[in-house]
This record gives sequence, C-alpha cells and structure tokens, in this order.
Amino acid sequence: MTKSVLIVGGGTAGWTTAAYMAQMLAADTPGGVSITLVESDEIGILGVGEGTFPIIRKTMRTIGIDESELIRDANATFKQGIRFNNWKKNPADDPENSYFHPFQVASQHTDMDLLPYWLLGVAGDVPWAEACTVQERVVDGKLAPKLITHPNYDGPLNYAYHFDASKFAEVLRRRAMVMGVKRLIDTIEDVKLDEHGAISYVQGRTHGELKADLYIDCTGFRALLIGKALGSELTSFKNELFCDRAVAMQIPYEHPNTPIPSCTYTTAKESGWIWDIGLHDRRGLGYVYSSKYCSDDEALATLKKHIGPAADNKQHKVLPFEPGIRKTQWHKNCVGIGLSVGFIEPLEATGISFAEIAALMLCNLFPWSGDYEHSATQFNKAMTTRFEHVKDFIKLHYYLSDRNDTQFWQDNRSPDSASDYLKRKLEQWRHRPPSFLDIDLSHDIFDENSWQYILYGMGFKTDISARADALRFYDEAKREFESIRQQSKNAMSAVPTHRDLINEVIKTG
Ligand code: FAD
Repeated sequence: MTKSVLIVGGGTAGWTTAAYMAQMLAADTPGGVSITLVESDEIGILGVGEGTFPIIRKTMRTIGIDESELIRDANATFKQGIRFNNWKKNPADDPENSYFHPFQVASQHTDMDLLPYWLLGVAGDVPWAEACTVQERVVDGKLAPKLITHPNYDGPLNYAYHFDASKFAEVLRRRAMVMGVKRLIDTIEDVKLDEHGAISYVQGRTHGELKADLYIDCTGFRALLIGKALGSELTSFKNELFCDRAVAMQIPYEHPNTPIPSCTYTTAKESGWIWDIGLHDRRGLGYVYSSKYCSDDEALATLKKHIGPAADNKQHKVLPFEPGIRKTQWHKNCVGIGLSVGFIEPLEATGISFAEIAALMLCNLFPWSGDYEHSATQFNKAMTTRFEHVKDFIKLHYYLSDRNDTQFWQDNRSPDSASDYLKRKLEQWRHRPPSFLDIDLSHDIFDENSWQYILYGMGFKTDISARADALRFYDEAKREFESIRQQSKNAMSAVPTHRDLINEVIKTG
C-alpha cells in the first residue's frame, strides 16, 4: 500500500504538487496519504516563472486558494494573452509588425464557425484575433478581464495570471501546510537505491535517512532523484528549439500608478526574444537566447537596450537550460515533476502548467495498492506526448517567421529544424484550418484556437477557395464581425483599468 509521499524540492513544482496531493489524497485525514516536503535553505528556488496559462485558475480553485489572496500575497495581476512584436518580419522592414494570442476563444455567440468567412475576407483586413474576440482591444486598452463583482476565478473574458514566483511558492506552501503537509528544511546529500533499482531512502544532512513509499523529484534542473540517481536521460529538443539561456531583470515602475499591461509582451530579437511582464510594483523582463548565436554579454546588452535607462545599475541573473524532456518521468517509486523532468522555453508560459497537469495526473493515477508499473506507463506516455506537442507549437512561432536578418532566424526556417509532425500539419493547413480533429484532447495544452491564433497572426495562408460556394452564411458572418466590433466598444467602457481592479481587490480582499 502506498501511504507516504516525500516531495524533494520546494519551488513552484514542489509546492503545487504538495498542495494538490494534500487536497486530492486527503493528507489531513487518518486514512489519507501522509505528505512530507523537504527543501533546502542553501539551494534557492529558480525564482522566475511569472507567466501562466488559464488552467492555473482550476488549479488554484482545487487547492482552495482565494483569488484575492493570490493577488495580494503573490503580487498577481491578470494575463489575457500574449502580444508578439517583431516576430513576423525583420524590424528594419516593418518595425510595427505585431499580433496577439488571446486566451478567449473565437466568438461562439452564434453556431457559425467564423474562421472560414474570415479566411475568405468577410472581415476585411482586420486580424483574426481582433475580428473574432473583444479581448485584443480590451488588452490594448490595459483594461481588466472582469469586474470586482465577478466571482473568484470567473469573468466574461478568459484569463490567467502574472505573479512573483517566490511569493507564489509561499502562498502555495501556506495552503499545503494548512492541509496537513509536513515541511522539513534539509539538503539531500544522497539517494540510496534498493536491490530492485527503486529508491530505498534519501539522505538528509540534518535529518538523516528519509523514507517514503513514493518519492517526488521537484529539485529543479538538478534532477537529483530521477536524473542523477535513477539515470533517466534527457531527450534534447535543441535541434528544433535553439534557445538555451535567459538573462532576467526586475525593473520598478516609474510611478505607483503606471498602467499595468494585462498581457505578456514578447519581442523577437536577433538571437531570441524578450519577455516583459507587469506585476503590481515592477516589471519582470528577460531575454531568452541561443548561446550558439549570442554571448551572455551581447544578450545583456540587448536586454538593457530594450529596457532603456531604467535598466542602469539593476542586477541581472543568467539562467542556462536545455530544452527537452527526460525519457521517463516516473520510474518505479519515483516521479519527477517540474524542471527536474523537462523544460521548454517560456514563450507560451507552459512550465508551471506542466507541473499542474503532472500533479493532477499523479493524484488520479495514484498507486494506492502499490501498483506503480501501470500508472508509470500511462503517466510517461501522456507527459511525453504533451511535451512533444508543446515543442511543436513553440517551434511554429519561429518556423513561420519571415525574419532573415540574422543567422538565428535563417536557421529557424530550415525544414531540418522542424519535426515531421509539424511539417505534415502545416501541409494540411494550407487547404483547411486547424480544427478539433488536430487536437489530442487528453494531452494537448493548446487547442485549435491557439494554433489558429499563431498561424494567422504570423500571416499563414489557408486557401479554402474551393469551399467558398458551399458556405451559406456570408451576411450573418458579416453581421457577427460587426457585432464583435461593437461589443468591444461596450466592453471597453464597462470594465475597469487593470490597475484599478488590482487596487480594488487589494483594498477589499
Ligand atoms: P526550482 O524552482 O529550481 O526549485 C527546486 C527546489 O528544489 C528548491 O526548493 C531547492 O531548494 C530544492 N532542492 C534542489 N536540490 C535540493 C537538495 N539537494 N536537497 C533539498 N532540496 C533541494 N514557467 C512558466 O509557467 N511561466 C514562465 O513564464 C516561465 N518562465 C521561465 C523563464 C526561465 C528563464 C526559466 C528557466 C523557466 C521559466 N519557467 C516558466 C519555468 C518555471 O520557472 C518552473 O517551471 C517553475 O519555477 C518550477 O520550478 P521547479 O519547482 O521545478 O524548480
């Protein structure tokens, strides 16, 4: 019987898993699972990872954290999507080129699928994301996705959060401990295996032998259990995704009432891209780049130039990583969650989502009776597929770019740098748009809406002219596009500014 769990590592992955398991596996009842988390006070957490994806709302609701607590104590702000600047074309040719990936799906106000009509020009030259939802205009106005009166984790527009990663881990820790998770401060120095190659115990410097039925490796890139002790190797994605380093900085706002953006800005640069995330009191920025094409000094200079004088005398942090996933994430009595088992560059902020989904799966596949093998097989297959598909989705952003101003961008367009899966899909999408049939519902983080937003945002052409005469609702589609334009105006006067909503939540929450 599996009754005790030891989580090693207290970053976002460790505490998310702890809180999820405590809630789902009844850590606070005598029949439930006993959960201990050990974290080192010598080895810090990564401390980046400030952008999220909308499933975070379900996770927070399940764990039982109040939205106002998240906003107040983790400095959370609302994120309604991602704006991509300079991804499509060389900035020298078109410095304003930009598109938006909203979290809101295309209008479903009528039963009609608007996309074929948009592809046939019914919305004129209005970009797809702007034509089919109100969210782009709301975001460009730095407005909130909801009103103060909307309930916890709910609102008319789909959203996720930006937050301070260290403070977020503290919020999770507080909640997990209320639900019965025990916390130990210790540095694990060794991992002992038994004669079957499973973990027998981990050796803490202060607490000595720590034993459990199931071990969760949340030690970040160190991968102390699943990688170092159990030898699960990394399958690298670096031939497809070239970025392998980031340099990050935190910049205070000029004024306490500077408007807060409600999307992440990502700006493509010579050898990668820069993220810009707005919290209550500061921005978090980082340049994600490829060491093959750019030195650390050049990367820092690019980031500083992008920020301007506000970057003077500010500290920075360089973060190396290798994109990829470990061949097995669950081996015998050890499951890796978070950076210990894999990472894909944070262009669409998937790192925390992978940990959330892994924790959810682990709870559902929990080997109560001690049968690790079947659960492990299912878990490994699902996580690997999920990582592979996200890798292809991220590659899409680079592969479709017309940028050729540097070697980095030229190499990114090479067919050798994209998977056969992605190339096959793109071939099909030349004559039909992505649909639910292209999505693996139980594994994919990004559904057809996201694929469509990136494809058409990047200027991809789907020729459906052969179908044009079979479409019957041109007038209705035209009216719907006009109605969305009108609703955008109404929405913009109905919702508060993002900063006003945050201030109000802090005041009343
Ligand atoms: P860590 O934060 O590294 O935590 C590791 C923990 O293990 C720590 O508590 C440490 O003390 C402990 N530990 C390690 N060794 C030992 C030991 N020997 N004994 C005891 N304890 C030990 N994700 C997103 O979702 N959105 C983003 O915008 C995003 N941006 C990112 C940007 C960059 C540049 C990078 C590199 C990652 C980004 N991520 C992002 C990923 C995100 O940061 C991680 O998924 C998240 O922080 C989880 O990290 P972790 O908990 O696995 O590891």
